[in-house]
Amino acid sequence: MDTQAVRSIENIVTSVRVLEGGGFPVRRPFPNPELDQVDPFLLLDHLGPTEWGPREAIGAPDHPHRGFETVTYLLAGENEHKDSKGNHGLLNPGDVQWMTAGSGVVHSEMPSPDFFEKGGKMHGFQIWINLPKERKMIPPRYQDTISEKIPEVILDDGKSKIRVIAGEFNGVKAVIETNTPILYLHVMLEPGMGFRQPASATDNIMAYLISGEGVFGEGENTRTAVEGQLVLFAHDGDEVSLRSSQDSSLELLLLGGTPINEPMVRYGPFVMNTKEEIFQAFRDFSK
Ligand code: FE
Repeated sequence: MDTQAVRSIENIVTSVRVLEGGGFPVRRPFPNPELDQVDPFLLLDHLGPTEWGPREAIGAPDHPHRGFETVTYLLAGENEHKDSKGNHGLLNPGDVQWMTAGSGVVHSEMPSPDFFEKGGKMHGFQIWINLPKERKMIPPRYQDTISEKIPEVILDDGKSKIRVIAGEFNGVKAVIETNTPILYLHVMLEPGMGFRQPASATDNIMAYLISGEGVFGEGENTRTAVEGQLVLFAHDGDEVSLRSSQDSSLELLLLGGTPINEPMVRYGPFVMNTKEEIFQAFRDFSK
């Protein structure tokens, strides 16, 4: 096989631990002082896993967003979503909420009342994806997608599994529509399993390790990474290659996208192209 096309590894970034929303713990490979964004991805938060006792769980009360998309993917727990326009949803394990904030929403993302009373394990992800200038002020849109609707591919060993949240894996297409080309795969590999995934050389592509140990790249350009690390692939090929270590399973998110390559100004919950548009967002949401 031709290994020239397999991308090498540009960098491996270790997450920082921070408190988000009302004070729940997240691991954040970016933005942090080492890595600001991976265009068009603006933020990656790994929520928990956290074991909450009864009446302990913390969420994110009312806050606005404008100019981008928030994608929430739950692995454990229950998250309830409400917004200022009366939209309401409940995320259970395996469900995805793809929220295009566009011109703006004010919403809350909280443990469901039932989960709050009982407590339990909360585990998931929130990813922010930028919108190009001409789509920043489009009307808000929700794509709440229950777990059963997320396509899954079982690999040759009959156990390793890939959930196709956005984009395509091995001919299997996601059901969620994206504003720009996005790949979002949840990859679960038994020890010693791996695959290659096509990725246009101009696209940014990365792997965030949820658990286990993985080997990335092929030949001389191989690097190893572990839980909590983000592997950024270089732009020297049109395929990425990854596998679990021989003695470790591997769970990761494989994320890719076409860079927007526009000026980006962010402040808190707003991501626009200019400072003036950020000021305008503050004016609009303080009414
Ligand atoms: Fe939010």
